Amino acid sequence: MKFSRTFIPTLREVPADAVIASHRLMFRAGMIRKLANGLFAYLPLGLRSFRKVEQIIREEMDAIGALEIKPTVVVPGELWKESGRWDAYGDALLRAKNRLGGDLVVSPTAEEAFTALVRDELSSYRQLPLTFYQINTKYRDEIRPRYGVMRGREFVMKDAYSFHTGDESLDRVYQDMGRAYRRIFKRCGLTVIPVQADSGAMGGSGSEDFMVESEIGDNTLLLCRDCDYAANVEKASCKPDYEVPASRASDIPAVEKIATPAVKTIEDLCVFLKTDAKRFIKTLIYRVVNVELDLSGADGTIKPERSPAASGPAVYPEAFFAVAIRGDLEVNEVKLASALKAAEVALASDADVKRLTGAPVGFAGPVGLTAIPVIADESVVALTDAVTGALAQDLHYAHVSYARDFTPWLVTDLRTVKAGDRCPRCGGGLYEKKGNELGHIFKLGRKYAVPMGVHYLDEAGQTQIPTMGCYGIGLDRAVASVIEEHHDDAGIIWPMTLAPYQAAIIPIKYAGAVKATADGLAASLEAVGIETLLDDRDERPGVKFNDADLIGIPYRVVVGDKNLAQAKVEVKRRGQAESRLVDAAKATEELTGLVYGEMGELNR
Ligand code: ATP
Ligand code: MG
Repeated sequence: MKFSRTFIPTLREVPADAVIASHRLMFRAGMIRKLANGLFAYLPLGLRSFRKVEQIIREEMDAIGALEIKPTVVVPGELWKESGRWDAYGDALLRAKNRLGGDLVVSPTAEEAFTALVRDELSSYRQLPLTFYQINTKYRDEIRPRYGVMRGREFVMKDAYSFHTGDESLDRVYQDMGRAYRRIFKRCGLTVIPVQADSGAMGGSGSEDFMVESEIGDNTLLLCRDCDYAANVEKASCKPDYEVPASRASDIPAVEKIATPAVKTIEDLCVFLKTDAKRFIKTLIYRVVNVELDLSGADGTIKPERSPAASGPAVYPEAFFAVAIRGDLEVNEVKLASALKAAEVALASDADVKRLTGAPVGFAGPVGLTAIPVIADESVVALTDAVTGALAQDLHYAHVSYARDFTPWLVTDLRTVKAGDRCPRCGGGLYEKKGNELGHIFKLGRKYAVPMGVHYLDEAGQTQIPTMGCYGIGLDRAVASVIEEHHDDAGIIWPMTLAPYQAAIIPIKYAGAVKATADGLAASLEAVGIETLLDDRDERPGVKFNDADLIGIPYRVVVGDKNLAQAKVEVKRRGQAESRLVDAAKATEELTGLVYGEMGELNR
């Protein structure tokens, strides 16, 4: 391809809002242009690398037997009403109406569409397992699109959905997907960190995120220095840093009310009582909506604020909980939501805290709290002589002991794990990294199959509901992540598999013998399948060199009069300082070995 015949509008200046390298470089290299906030167009160069990522993903999906289909991007709102996500998805869901007033959704993800398609086709267990995928446009009305295509509003996702008769079959495909993802990222030259992830409100037994390390990452990852434990902070757990006393000391004085005037924060209290935060029971009041609870096992005096009419599991439109945790720890709201099987939890308003605890914010505690259930983090179980709020302004309780002075409704792991905590597997030190999610594999279970009424007949002719998995990768984010990992001050350094062109031929002056050699070389490289960009522009050599570096073409071949007099051309690998003189007649053979060698290494 001749440079003058394609369209690569390289730029020196950087858009003001481009704060990360991939955004700056994709823009400067003429890969993308912005149409509006969160909406990007790919120009020819950008699309070439994008298509290569797409092809790698397609090959790896096909290799594990996933079947590509192409549903629509716009889907009936009815399907989203069936699944319950018409209301639950929130403002990121772009809704529209057709001319008849029918509701439509611009897909942000496609569980509903795939589930509906399979529902209509599925009749027998013989059709299962079944894995469909698409590589298709998504739209999410992200509040803050940023970092270029890393978080856009419109983007392309490979999303796959699998359907199974049971857990074993689901697990097999889930594992296959995990392996396929590892291969995809390796072939793209990407270093990913697979981490355990939260499996969400509806339970589900497996969830793995594939993260790329990034300073601007939205996710905090906890990794072990000594073993391969890695988890999203939302999910991370740790070895206890306390010991639960085998027997409860009987010499702890009885609970005592102490005046703590004008002391509100735990830090103030530590100073005031000359003790440390590890001796406190911090109690926070949370509000949860649409939570399904079975309180039949709970103490009769403990009820969520609004009682349902019937006993047994019931959906509470609104419920409040007190969450008790050791004073130096933070509540992990994702764990709390999981424990309550709620989509979301949020701190209660000051007014609700006052109404439920009888005191302003800052004086809640588990002792004597009967208006709402108390959920305790496991750390609380070890506390035998602690301080906590006394449900009255400016008052605290001292000498509070777990079990003796209060019994939580539920004890579970709710702490936010931090760097320095101990690995739950090996006890080693955990450290933190920031990461961006590039892909996600997830066991959905029957979350969609049940409400959307998917059925099949098993061997015995019984009606059954299939279990499901879903698996996503963002293509735009993959391209941007590759650039984040592979660039220098001069520009992008493409891994061979994704390079928009694998070789750049730069004639010092595109005329005479130089032109003839450059043309000949371009033709012979293309003949052996090496994608070649011939810079035929009437520009200074420096401009051409800079552009080739900026757009990151792996091999640069400079053709000039001086070297050509010795029948040589100059070959340089992008990212390496040294160039070499190669016989012009052997350049094609030499480059073929280099290019295919690197391709083979990545694709192995
Ligand atoms: P994030 O937490 O980054 O918003 P997510 O959990 O919403 O991601 P999923 O719903 O699992 O992501 O979507 C699967 C993949 O789609 C993500 O791993 C990511 O690569 C990609 N993706 C999600 N949102 C965007 C976006 N706004 N722009 C570009 N890619 C995205
Ligand atoms: Mg998101």
